[in-house]
Amino acid sequence: MALIRSEGIVLKTHALGDTSRIVVVYTRDHGLVKLVAKGARKTPSRFGISLEPLSRSRFLFYYKPDRDLHLLSQTDTIVATGVGLTDLSRLAHAQAAVELLDRLVWGEEPHPDLYDLLSATLDATVRAPGTSLTAITIAFELQVASLLGYRPRLDACAGCGGTLSPERLFSPSRGGLLCAGCAAREPGLIRLSADALAGLALLLSRPVGDAGEYVEVRRTAEILRVVDQFLRHHFQRFQGLRSLEVLRAIPEIAAEKPCPN
Ligand SMILES: [Zn+2]
Repeated sequence: MALIRSEGIVLKTHALGDTSRIVVVYTRDHGLVKLVAKGARKTPSRFGISLEPLSRSRFLFYYKPDRDLHLLSQTDTIVATGVGLTDLSRLAHAQAAVELLDRLVWGEEPHPDLYDLLSATLDATVRAPGTSLTAITIAFELQVASLLGYRPRLDACAGCGGTLSPERLFSPSRGGLLCAGCAAREPGLIRLSADALAGLALLLSRPVGDAGEYVEVRRTAEILRVVDQFLRHHFQRFQGLRSLEVLRAIPEIAAEKPCPN
């Protein structure tokens, strides 16, 4: 048993017995870990707000290589993102980011780039203009997929590597744009507008925090649909982002009011 120290972001928590909690944390140095926080449901808890979902904290825990659960010893809050987010739309997009990570990643395989991407995305959901939130979520989805080895191919045919059809035909199952020949044999194609394709390329490669600068708000719904289809084909555990459903139910938020600041 080793005593491990790592920064991490709380994805979710479950009650354990009367007073404890299981905390699912994406750590920078040890990937996804499940920690038992004894006494975490007592008030006041010695862990404070460090275990709230979306909190970024330093964790000290006893690691047993052959176990699924590890015992949490101490925590130190760096930033309690969830506690500060009172805007429903920002909260939903921040929750969508941790939901996506929880769906697509499992096991104690460290991936510091993925951790930094999640951290930057949560910061962006707090700071970026309200009109940028959907673009930030799409950029996060695309960049997570890329880091996990599924980068959509936009520079040549995803089927044969040939010259792309000028019709901008995207195949979610093939994972990119197609040439005319491959497109003729492929069902379920999505025809992209020129703006959506340009947005998709920029969201793949530019910093997540700036995502709103690269895509017009009126194009985000089109791009979101394409990315949703793409993820469903390549990640069995992905079934859409439930965290965003709350926004669809409230039309004035779905329309993305500009940030009052
Ligand atoms: Zn082809």
